[in-house]
Amino acid sequence: MQSLINTIFYRKRRYLVYFIITVIAISLPFIRINGNHIFLLSFDHMELHLLGTAFNVQQLYLMPFLLIILFVGIFFMTTLGGRVWCGWSCPQTIFRVIYRDFIETTLLGLRKKISNKQEKPKYTIISNDVKKIIGILIFSVIALMASAVFLFYFVPPEEFFPALLDPLNHMVLMTFWLCIAGFLVFDITFIAENFCVYICPYARVQSVLYDDDTIMAIYDSSRGGAIYTPEGEKILQAPKKRDPNAECTNCEKCVRVCPTHIDIRKGMQLECINCLECVDACTEVMGKLGRPSLVQWSSPNSIDTKTKIKYFRAKTIAYIVVLAIVFGIMVAMWGKKEQMLLNITRSSELYEIRSSGVVDNEYVFLFQNTDNKDHNYSFKILDNNDLIIKQPTSDIRIKAGGKSKQIVIIRAKAALGDNTSKDAITPITIQAYATDDPKINVERKSFFVYPEKNVLKKYQK
Ligand code: SF4
Ligand code: SF4
Repeated sequence: MQSLINTIFYRKRRYLVYFIITVIAISLPFIRINGNHIFLLSFDHMELHLLGTAFNVQQLYLMPFLLIILFVGIFFMTTLGGRVWCGWSCPQTIFRVIYRDFIETTLLGLRKKISNKQEKPKYTIISNDVKKIIGILIFSVIALMASAVFLFYFVPPEEFFPALLDPLNHMVLMTFWLCIAGFLVFDITFIAENFCVYICPYARVQSVLYDDDTIMAIYDSSRGGAIYTPEGEKILQAPKKRDPNAECTNCEKCVRVCPTHIDIRKGMQLECINCLECVDACTEVMGKLGRPSLVQWSSPNSIDTKTKIKYFRAKTIAYIVVLAIVFGIMVAMWGKKEQMLLNITRSSELYEIRSSGVVDNEYVFLFQNTDNKDHNYSFKILDNNDLIIKQPTSDIRIKAGGKSKQIVIIRAKAALGDNTSKDAITPITIQAYATDDPKINVERKSFFVYPEKNVLKKYQK
């Protein structure tokens, strides 16, 4: 099995990964669990959907954990596999493969073959200019679809498509859509790999995360022979200086295939996006000579010492531990998510003594139904049988995602506290719950104030 995998060029494996990522990216926004999305960050509804759970903007305590997982995950991935993201998953690389290799080369014949990315398209005759325009138009259609899929993670498809049919009333969304698509067309057809080399911030930071066991495309100079001096001068330009046993044929196929236009034989370079096209090229050349590729996907230590790649080392283990801890905390906090929001404040008056002598306290309840269904809500006092809810007298109906402000009056059925000289402050626990779904309930602490007996007597005369 392993030998079968080894005979498949990295390019084919990459294309398979691109296909899987594309299918997942397009499908995810359409999958819903309990009416919620797998991932949605809706600025319109101020909601985050994660794995089928909706979090209101006031419940975004998970966000810091997600960001920590994202950044530590990037550090971990880069330390382990270098710029593996760039070559195997980055949308920039995927779109460049679609535009450069599929549209420009295979479909329109603007380049002779995929294996020579250094060769500029020939625009000497008009038909090539027309082909170039056709290529940009074809990619523009793909860019419009891709930017729509990107927006699905912020504006779900069930809202995006109706907006598309009524663009004049959704100008902001339409402007975003067209601007993202326009940028994508400009980036992929004009900026090209210069984005990876000069603009992408990840390219700037990734080299500091590398160590001698990081996996990357490496030229084995002990077999192929040094091609450059430590100062960067090309030794092949002075053939006598080369080791006669060096295996590199200097065919330069690994150089011509490189999308970022570098020579991997010069050593690790910032521009390398780990696409492994050079590994494939040399595998083909050396394969004909019955030898393994001189450019390998390996680590510097593994190449130097001829040992296996060290995946587990202090740095990578530390990242795994941090990721596991943060993930564990996030899952634990996830389990404490409340299905509704309730904020209780007391009115400015401590208490009100009615003409009949009974004592009322007034509260303002601010409800929010964070579920995706309408619900009826009621509430009760859990820890004091001498208090009753006087107002409201019936359930409160709140639409899915809706809010409601309620004045709530709690009344003391009997005298509270035995002090005569000062007001009695009694802690209370209020439970609010959906009468149509027993799973939805929250508890809040507050207090009830009862007047001192001398004050009360004046009203009871
Ligand atoms: S493809 Fe292999 S043999 Fe040809 S130049 Fe590159 S490293 Fe040397
Ligand atoms: S050197 Fe060029 S071809 Fe080789 S992995 Fe890096 S970017 Fe790809």
